[in-house]
Amino acid sequence: MNYDAKMIEAAVRKAIADANQAVAEASGEIKIGVSQRHIHLSQEDLETLFGKGYKLTVKKVLMGREFASNEVVTLVGPSLKSIENVRVLGPVRKNTQVEISKTDTFVLKVSPPVRPSGNVEGSERLVVVGPKGSVYLKEGVIIANRHIHLTPQYAEKHGIKDNDYVDVLVEGIKPTKFFDVQVRVRDDFNVEMHIDTDDANSTGLKNGDLVKIIKD
Ligand SMILES: [Zn+2]
Repeated sequence: MNYDAKMIEAAVRKAIADANQAVAEASGEIKIGVSQRHIHLSQEDLETLFGKGYKLTVKKVLMGREFASNEVVTLVGPSLKSIENVRVLGPVRKNTQVEISKTDTFVLKVSPPVRPSGNVEGSERLVVVGPKGSVYLKEGVIIANRHIHLTPQYAEKHGIKDNDYVDVLVEGIKPTKFFDVQVRVRDDFNVEMHIDTDDANSTGLKNGDLVKIIKD
């Protein structure tokens, strides 16, 4: 496939995704995004792991400026067991942050807190190994909390504010409710609820499934 065909395909995919998003927003439904385990790196740690002056390369654009990079690292815990092929998300951040599931903690033998992204003070330790070096992270390992990203338009229409906590109804094969889900509102967000693989497995939810905020 030549470059033009790829661009057309990407444009069509985006148009379909935007149309689906508009339909979902009109009905108030929110699309699920399942977050696999991943790592955000500081520039300093990126260079330790991948070499001086290294820059992440884009594999897939996610939301806003966020992207999945082609780069992966290995996590090593006090168990001396490792988890390989952990995706690096870009762009680089101020602080390195590892987001894993509760299930991963049994392999690594670590006890990270459940936290909102960015809140890493006093969180769990881990060794991160890259092709050019390794980093002993003294903090930065968390289990990311369930959260919802909203556009300002969606938030206003539904009377929700940034940093509100809402309850969410999950229908389907294993119906359930998620309580106290953190909401973040920013104009470069898509309307999406992010859960980890443990939540996805326990509820049968997958990427693109729809859930609803419960109104009282
Ligand atoms: Zn998210």
